[in-house]
Amino acid sequence: MPIGIPPTFLADLARLFDRMDAAYRQTAERSGFVCQGCANNCCRSLFFHHTLAEYLYLRAGLATLPLPVRETIRQRSAAASDPTAPQEQEGRPYSRMCPLNVEDRCLLYAHRPMICRLHGVPHRLRRPDGQTRSGPGCEDYDRQCAIGQRRFLDRTPLYVAMSQLERELRRCTGFEGKIRMTIAQMVVTEIEGVSVKR
Ligand code: SF4
Repeated sequence: MPIGIPPTFLADLARLFDRMDAAYRQTAERSGFVCQGCANNCCRSLFFHHTLAEYLYLRAGLATLPLPVRETIRQRSAAASDPTAPQEQEGRPYSRMCPLNVEDRCLLYAHRPMICRLHGVPHRLRRPDGQTRSGPGCEDYDRQCAIGQRRFLDRTPLYVAMSQLERELRRCTGFEGKIRMTIAQMVVTEIEGVSVKR
């Protein structure tokens, strides 16, 4: 592992992701919600990811895949993050399948980022200024769950833990850049000097 990356980084983030998966599962079960491949597949949503931690974790997973699979993903990602595409030029949101989703299966499921783990069930978030914000579940959640059944996942402790881990990672690596990347951009973008090999 390169100097600068905390030696426990991968294990720490794996534990945090396990907590997220458990929180999601619990909220879904309490609501009676089952995510089972709806037409509005959320892998088609253009989510942005904002942490160096998620970037490094995804790329650590990518490095474990056989070379031909990696190359296919790289090509799909390059096509998906084409800055000359009309929608990208106009800054319009559009729907395009994530380059890691092949035949409704995530090729890096164990390494997927935070929002892929939490999206779908309603959530609450207590912000540092004390205000609480809430967000709805996905359309399929609303279809399956009656109003009285709805449960909220409290993202606050999970976001706090993620931001602590990110702060420590940035302190150790000295990385100060801003991150706002789609999955496709995470695959094709090399951030010089920071990488993790298992
Ligand atoms: S990383 Fe995996 S779970 Fe997340 S959008 Fe892509 S295919 Fe879907």
